[in-house]
Amino acid sequence: MSDAALTNSLETWFKANARDLPWRLDHRIPYCALVSEFMLQQTQVARVLEKYQPFLDRFPTVEALAQAHEDEVLAAWAGLGYYRRARMLHACAQAIVEHHDGTVPDSAQSLQNLPGIGRYTAGAIASLVFGQREPIVDGNITRVLLRVHNKPEPQTDNHTIKWSWRRAGELVKSATNPAIFNEAMMELGATICTPKNIQCPQCPIRSHCQSFEAGTTESIPLPKPRAKQKPMYCASIVSIQNRSVLVEQRPVSGMWASMYQVPTIERDDRQPTPEEITTDLSVDADTIKPTGTFTHITTHRIVEFAVYRADSIEMGPNQAYRTLDSLDQIALSNAQRKVLAVAGLIEPL
Ligand code: SF4
Repeated sequence: MSDAALTNSLETWFKANARDLPWRLDHRIPYCALVSEFMLQQTQVARVLEKYQPFLDRFPTVEALAQAHEDEVLAAWAGLGYYRRARMLHACAQAIVEHHDGTVPDSAQSLQNLPGIGRYTAGAIASLVFGQREPIVDGNITRVLLRVHNKPEPQTDNHTIKWSWRRAGELVKSATNPAIFNEAMMELGATICTPKNIQCPQCPIRSHCQSFEAGTTESIPLPKPRAKQKPMYCASIVSIQNRSVLVEQRPVSGMWASMYQVPTIERDDRQPTPEEITTDLSVDADTIKPTGTFTHITTHRIVEFAVYRADSIEMGPNQAYRTLDSLDQIALSNAQRKVLAVAGLIEPL
């Protein structure tokens, strides 16, 4: 069957079945699309749903975001993870104000010249907001394309990704409406042509799908061996004075860059010893009490946390007491929220 028949089936299905997501209503507003596209990179829709509107309430325009302090942006981003995206979105807003008079550019090429915008996000904004015939390819779309063409390949291989962009580009040219087609591809990958529990009986392009015909849907794409996550060990000290907790800011680069934490030391090969904790964190050994442990898993690390309470700690130059009520105004990683939960200061995540 032709590409036009495939795109037509998909667009018709999407118009009748699209999930009601708030950023879809806002798609005609370029700034809203910019925010939602940054948030949706590597984060699940359910988590973005919690953060999207509060972020827009706090930074309603590209100018408001550009003028904000980075700490405010990171705090509003807290809970979404991958904080580099928040810094990039902030830098992107500043570049739009500086180089485009505060107007989000409409071409994929201009968009790609902005900080934090790669080919996918540029294609998404150019097509969804401005109706350009630009393709988009992410993991969901690559998986759909590999299955439609019965190609048993790992979806992260470079040549597979290249092929997917080419194929998506051909299809979007055949679409009646490039915005609807691109969203439909994403929706199909997210809700029907999922990694597991594939819903082929509900699929609008089943009659175009070669892997469905061949009975090979479950084995496509081929799995890619996961890189092993490295261990990391952290000791965190929770020190409270007058309903305030001692916090410090992490370095501007590396893991959890610029995020806030309670005083913490870390090792790659073992838990810090009691002597290291008392010396490195200037804490009185007699007042330190083990409070709990937990494991925090990130994409690249398995982090074992040991949490302590301490009554007497010498405050360092980069540290300050913050009231418990003001903790949601600073950028705390999920790991540090767990530390505070283990210490009984906030509700568990
Ligand atoms: S028929 Fe099944 S495998 Fe093929 S595109 Fe549809 S959901 Fe995916």
